[in-house]
Amino acid sequence: MNRIPEQGIERSKVLEMLRSFNSDDANYHDSKTWSLVYYLSEDHTNFLKEAYGMYFSENALNPMAFKSLKRMESEIVKMSAGLLGGDDKTVGVMTSGGTESCLLPVVTYRELAKSKRRLPFRPEMIAPRSIHVAWSKAAKYFGVKIHYVPLCADNRVDVNAVRKLINRNTIMIVCSAPSYPHGVIDPVTELGRLAIEHDIPLHVDSCVGGFLLPFIEKNGFNVDPFDFRVPGVTSISADIHKYGFSAKGASVLLYKNMDYLKHQFFVKTDWPGGVFASPAMLGTRPGGAIAAAWAAMNVFGINGYKEIAAAIMETTEKLKKGIEEIPGLKVLGKPAMSVFAYTSTDRAVDIFAVGDQLEAKGWLVDRLQNPNALHCMVIPRHAMIADDYLKDIREAVKTVRSNPDLAVKGNAAMYGMIANVPFRGLIQNEVMKMMENLYGPDCKMPSLETDPTGPKLLDRALPVVLKILRRFKK
Ligand SMILES: *Cc1c(COP(=O)(O)O)cnc(C)c1O
Repeated sequence: MNRIPEQGIERSKVLEMLRSFNSDDANYHDSKTWSLVYYLSEDHTNFLKEAYGMYFSENALNPMAFKSLKRMESEIVKMSAGLLGGDDKTVGVMTSGGTESCLLPVVTYRELAKSKRRLPFRPEMIAPRSIHVAWSKAAKYFGVKIHYVPLCADNRVDVNAVRKLINRNTIMIVCSAPSYPHGVIDPVTELGRLAIEHDIPLHVDSCVGGFLLPFIEKNGFNVDPFDFRVPGVTSISADIHKYGFSAKGASVLLYKNMDYLKHQFFVKTDWPGGVFASPAMLGTRPGGAIAAAWAAMNVFGINGYKEIAAAIMETTEKLKKGIEEIPGLKVLGKPAMSVFAYTSTDRAVDIFAVGDQLEAKGWLVDRLQNPNALHCMVIPRHAMIADDYLKDIREAVKTVRSNPDLAVKGNAAMYGMIANVPFRGLIQNEVMKMMENLYGPDCKMPSLETDPTGPKLLDRALPVVLKILRRFKK
C-alpha cells in the first residue's frame, strides 16, 4: 500500500491487516529473542496499555497544560533518584529512551564547558571502547571528538588510559554500568576520583542496568558501586522501558544537581510562536509513555522488582553455567547482571556458525565483534526456554564441529569477515549502501543470503584483503 487509500478502510479491516503483518517478526512471545523486547506477560502488557491509553492524547510538551504528566514525571525522577543513590538535590527529566538519555548529556556538558571558557575550544569526550553506540552517535551529532579507551582483560575500561587522554578540551568522561556488549561495570569509583581531580563531569550509562542492579544489590548480592553514592558521578541514565518493564519510550536522565541540568534546557524568547522552553530533546512528548512508566514503578514496588531481579538472575546463572559446561565455549568476563556474551575457545568451533545454527532454530541471536561472540539479555520468561536454548547450543556446537565448512559459508563467513577485516572503510561503505537500499524508494530489505549486498561484499572485499595481505608479506 504505497498511497493513502482514496477511500478509507473500515476500522476492523485495518486492524485485521495490522495483525497479519507480524508473521515474519521476531518471536518474543515464545521467548526466542535475546534483545529488543522486555516482555513479562500478557497481563502486565494489558495493564501498561491501560495506563498508556489513559494519557494517550496528553502532551508533556507543556507541563502547565498537563499538570498530571508533570507530577508523574517529577515522581518518576524522584523515585529513580532514590533508587540510584541520589539525594534531595538530584534532578532530572524523562526522555524517549536510552538514546535520548545518552545524547543529551553530551550537549549539556559541552554547554557547561563552554560556559566556563572564554576561548573557543574543540570539545572532546572520553569513553570506553565498549560504550554504547548511542554515545558515538552523540559525538557525531554534536561535533564532539570521542576518544575510545581500550579495555583491560576483564573488559572494564583501562583507567590509566583514561587519565592520559584528559586535556583542557575534555568536556566529560562516560562509562557503563554495565556495558551493553559484555555486561561488566566499569571501575566507576576510580573514574570518579579522576573526574574530581580534573573537575570533569562523569556520566554513568546505566541504561540497561539502572532498573536491575539496585535490586540485585537489595537481594543481598555484591554489586560494584556505580551510582550517585560514588563521589564524582554527575549524571546517570536509566531506561524504564528495559528492566523497568514499562512501555517503550521511557527513560530517565538524572543529574547530581541543577548546576548541570540547567545547561540542558533550551529557551527561545523571540520566536513568533511565543516564548519557548524545553527540558529535553523532543517537542511533543507522549503522555502515555510517562503514565505507563509511573504505573510500572508503582505496580511492582521495590519488592516486585526484587522478585523479578531474583528470577532473572536465577535463569542467568543457569544459562551461564550451562554454556560454560559445553566444551569449546566460555562466557566473557564476569558479567554483573543478566547481560553477557559467550564465545568459542576452540578453533574448530566458529561462534558465528553456532549463531547461524541457532538462528535456523528460530532464535534471534545478536552477534558481537572483537572478540566475536553471541549475546544474551535475560528476562524472566527465559526461565521457560533456558533448557531448550542450552540444548540447541549444544547441538549447534556439535554440528559446527563436524561441518568445518559452515564457518566459511553464509552468514558466519559474512559476519566473520565484517568483524575481522581491518579495513573498516570498506565495511562502512557497504553498510552505508545497505542503508540507502533499505531507506530508498524501493525499500529493499537486506538479506545477507539473498541480497546482492552480502555476497557482493564478500566477493569484493576478500580479493582486496588478500591482495593487501600479500603485499604485507613481501
Ligand atoms: C539500550 C542502551 C542504550 C540505548 O537505549 P535505547 O533505548 O535503545 O535508545 C544506551 N546505553 C546502554 C548501555 C544500553 O543498554
